[in-house]
Amino acid sequence: MELRSQVLEGKLLHPDTGFASARTRLEQRWDPLTGHASRLISSPDELFPPNTYDLARLAEETRTGCPFCPDLVEMVTPQLAPHVWPQGRIRRGRALLFPNLRAYAKHPSVAVYDPELHYLPLARLDAALVGDLAAQVDFARAALEADSASTWVSINANHMLPSGSSLFHPHTQGAAHPQPTTMQALLAAVPPERFDDYLATERRLGQRHLGGTGTIEWLASFAPLGPAELRAFLPGVASPVELGGDRLAELAHGIVVALGLYAELGFESFNLALYGAPPGTAGYPLNLRMLVRSNLDMPYRSDATFLERLHWEAALDLTITPEAVAERAGDRFRR
Ligand SMILES: [Zn+2]
Repeated sequence: MELRSQVLEGKLLHPDTGFASARTRLEQRWDPLTGHASRLISSPDELFPPNTYDLARLAEETRTGCPFCPDLVEMVTPQLAPHVWPQGRIRRGRALLFPNLRAYAKHPSVAVYDPELHYLPLARLDAALVGDLAAQVDFARAALEADSASTWVSINANHMLPSGSSLFHPHTQGAAHPQPTTMQALLAAVPPERFDDYLATERRLGQRHLGGTGTIEWLASFAPLGPAELRAFLPGVASPVELGGDRLAELAHGIVVALGLYAELGFESFNLALYGAPPGTAGYPLNLRMLVRSNLDMPYRSDATFLERLHWEAALDLTITPEAVAERAGDRFRR
């Protein structure tokens, strides 16, 4: 497989050199699975500077009245319908799952990693994640049992305000729905051998292949949807509902490793999606993407510009190329 990219150069008169002629350069890349494009640009300043915001203080400011903290969570969060889960809420380890009041999907869920953990810097996200993912898998299985048409399952995260999270308290979101999201449809339409080719190509090139944790391979995305995008591939399962305990623990381990890398790179906000296809979809490897979001700051610069929102094409500066991210990742994903 050829990983398609193109370097494009332009010219301008630069103010730093008395308006002498200077070259500009960008590299455009195309994702080998969906065809989405991405741009690596040369920027005069870092587009995604490391976090300097006092998050511990913001945690204290948002703790009173938090609906996911222990004092309130059982009073103000909804319960699942009895035909889906008779106990109303799902508990796994320290995680607590309940329906999302905002119905983003036909069956939307929220799972709090731990009601006691109102503030969870990425470096401290650990095994709590396993319980949270297990609760999401239980939820999706129950939703599917109650409504066999809602076969498109995903597990997702908005972490910290820049990611779109409306609440400070860390949590994940699940969805079971009768229709795929746009990205689920695009990924499910990829021929199975193309996933194999992509992984084999990246394994051979080595620059972005991060290794494997046993049965799950990790990559720095060739054409990222956003800064520091990482991808994981789980062959042999198409939907989160098919994940057994061992693979869930392996996936959680990989995500914790990835979040540790994000923390080292100076990021505290991220999005994650685990894209399920209908259970039993032949040849589709369950796969995950995660990326960081701009850190909170004053003034705040969003990482989503007209390019990302309206052209579906991310722009990244040269400090955070996929290869630079892979180099920082080193061997941490290799088992
Ligand atoms: Zn809280």
